[in-house]
Amino acid sequence: SFEPLASDFYSYESLLTAREKEALAEIRSWLEREVRPIVNGYWERAEFPVEVVKPLADLGVLSYAWDETAPFENSAVFRGFVALELARVDASVCTFVGVQNGLATGSIAIGGSDEQRREWIPKLASGEVVGAFGLTEPLSGSDSARGLRTTARREGDEWVLNGQKRWIGNATWSDITIIWAKDEDDGQVKGFIVPTSTPGYEATKIEGKVSLRIVQNADITLTDVRVPESLRLQNATSFRDTAAVLRQTRAEVAWSAVGTAIGAYEAAVRYAKERDQFGKPIASHQLIQDLLVKCLGNITASLGMVVRVSQMLDAGEQRDEHSALAKAFATSAMRETVAWAREACGGNGIVLDYEVGRFFADAEALYSYEGTREMNTLIVGRAITGQAAFV
Ligand code: FAD
Repeated sequence: SFEPLASDFYSYESLLTAREKEALAEIRSWLEREVRPIVNGYWERAEFPVEVVKPLADLGVLSYAWDETAPFENSAVFRGFVALELARVDASVCTFVGVQNGLATGSIAIGGSDEQRREWIPKLASGEVVGAFGLTEPLSGSDSARGLRTTARREGDEWVLNGQKRWIGNATWSDITIIWAKDEDDGQVKGFIVPTSTPGYEATKIEGKVSLRIVQNADITLTDVRVPESLRLQNATSFRDTAAVLRQTRAEVAWSAVGTAIGAYEAAVRYAKERDQFGKPIASHQLIQDLLVKCLGNITASLGMVVRVSQMLDAGEQRDEHSALAKAFATSAMRETVAWAREACGGNGIVLDYEVGRFFADAEALYSYEGTREMNTLIVGRAITGQAAFV
């Protein structure tokens, strides 16, 4: 049964329907039982626990957003709370879902034809197919709207893709990767569903990460990769369509940031109650209470923001600058929060056993992916001044 989350101090969860609360309670209990106990080990080994994919699909987590597969009618606020729950236990598992569900399935849902939606979305929702989203390149990160170097050349009924991608999440083991490439003819960015078994496609794991170690990021090389026209996203005709996918996923990353902050904060509260110094629990020292309350203030302010931005999505009112502000603000507040939570745990704050160290390290990647704070700031800056400051 559903128990309100103590760290949701103003009870935003009360906005959910009874059915949504029930689903959230199920996800929370599975995460506590099956995921929390294993993630530190996977983090240390920098491996992904593939055994979570099927249960995530069975719980509906990979299908809530899409008409084709959603088990019941649900709101963007509910889906935000799902992301929060995932990140509250592990930001990497949450990132896997963000890539699979938000970026890969989202690209097909937003940019695909009806036929493509019908063919691919159920397979991604069931976890039968694992997806990745390849936009970023070695020489083009923040400026991927203009700077893509990967090319697509039409040859009869086929497209020939050439180029490189970097940082692509899930891509060491994905079955398909959405590749964004510039059409050599009209210079427009187009999207392709590329089966990773296609000759000329090669993905290599990025080693040595100190953040989100569980997520398998890859460098991809595309050498004369041939895909049929039927695998080109039929309704994605320019970077505007790529940006439409990112607008939604950015708001979800903002929710993940709140979940990550909550994960760290809850670990710090637990620790502060258990750890004695100067003859009493550190939780009774005023300066520790100050740290914890500052964390809760950041979490509560960010929650208010992400709830509203999701309500705007439900109402069809969400614009790029709305999700950009939520992403920039919530990830900045998260970064501050995980540092305070870690501080409250002293030396034990930097070992995996006490969890807070993992949240602290993982926060860095969330802060930079799906648009850095600077990029999201400039999107908002453009909206409020009418001046684009990117270049
Ligand atoms: P750069 O663009 O080189 O930026 C470096 C710094 O310069 C940043 O601080 C940036 O804000 C700043 N900067 C750049 N331009 C300006 C400007 N005009 N004004 C002010 N400051 C500026 N990409 C995918 O396509 N798919 C994925 O699945 C994916 N997963 C990722 C997972 C992880 C763990 C990470 C770390 C990244 C992932 N990315 C993915 C890539 C991610 O989106 C990029 O890292 C991000 O967009 C930033 O690009 P960059 O790293 O090349 O940094």
